Amino acid sequence: MPLQIVHHPDYDAGFAVNHRFPMSKYKLLMEALGARGLTGPAALNVPEPAPASWLKLAHDAGYVDQVLGCEVPEKIERDIGFPVSPRVSLRAQLATGGTVLAARLALLDGIACNTAGGSHHALRAQGAFCTFNDVAVASLVLLAEAAARNILIVDLDVHQGDGTADILGDERRVSTFSMHGDRNYPTRKIASDLDIALPDGTGDAAYLERLGGILPELTARARWDIVFYNAGVDVHAEDRLGRLSLSDEGLRARDDMVIRHFRALGIPVCGVIGGGYSTDVAALAARHAILFEVAEGFA
Ligand SMILES: [Zn+2]
Repeated sequence: MPLQIVHHPDYDAGFAVNHRFPMSKYKLLMEALGARGLTGPAALNVPEPAPASWLKLAHDAGYVDQVLGCEVPEKIERDIGFPVSPRVSLRAQLATGGTVLAARLALLDGIACNTAGGSHHALRAQGAFCTFNDVAVASLVLLAEAAARNILIVDLDVHQGDGTADILGDERRVSTFSMHGDRNYPTRKIASDLDIALPDGTGDAAYLERLGGILPELTARARWDIVFYNAGVDVHAEDRLGRLSLSDEGLRARDDMVIRHFRALGIPVCGVIGGGYSTDVAALAARHAILFEVAEGFA
C-alpha cells in the first residue's frame, strides 16, 4: 500500500506571491510529490473541513465562531498575520480536518501524512501566526472518540510549540515535546512537557545527536497510541526564519530517525509539514517533500 497522503487544493488560500507566508508551497509540494510518484489515486485522501465541534475541543468557542463567521476582530487578525477571509477560514478548517484524517489513517496503516498542518502557535483563546492548532484539535478528537488514550507530540519545527503547550498543558493524556531554536519566535515560550532549546548554528551532527538521545526517553514515558510529528523544515540553513543550519541530508536523517524509531516500536506516526519559509518556493517544496519520501519507506 502506498503512503497515505492527505491533501486538499484549498490548502492554498491564494495569497499574493510576495506574501510573507509562502502559500503557494502547498501546490508546489503536491507537484513535487507527483514527480516522485507518490500521488497516485490509491495514495490520496481529501479531507472535509473540521466542524465547529472539533475546533471547540481545543479553542475557545467564541474564537471558533469568529473564524467560521469571518468576523475575527482586527486585533486578533493582526496577531494571526492576515485577515480571516472566507478562503482563509476554509483553509484553516480543511488543514485541521486534514490532520484529523491523517491521524485516523495512521492508526489504520501505521503512518500517514498531511500536506499541511503543524499550526502550533495557535493558542486556546485565539490564533497567533496560525488560525487553528490542527495537532491539538486532532489529539483531542482522538481522545474524545476513544481512538487513542496516550498521545505524544514531537514538534521539531524551529519555533517552539507554544500554542500546543497552551492548549494541552492540563491534558495529561497528551505529552508535548518541542525541540527548537532558542532565539527564535516566540520570545515568551509556554512550557511543553519537555523542551529542548538549541543554539544558533547547531548543524546536522549536534542536532541529530541531541534528537537521538531524547527519543528513547520520550518512548519510556508512556505506551503511546500515536505520535504526531511536526516536521517543520524551517530548521534548514537556507530558511528565512531558521537559525539551526541543517542541510537537506540533515533533514532527511532527522525524519528517518523519528519515523524509524516509532515505527520500529509499532507506534503509528502522523506527519504534518510544519513551517518553512523561503522566497525560493520550489526549493522549499522540495524540502517539505523529504518527509513524504522518508515516510513512504515505512508505509
Ligand atoms: Zn516554524
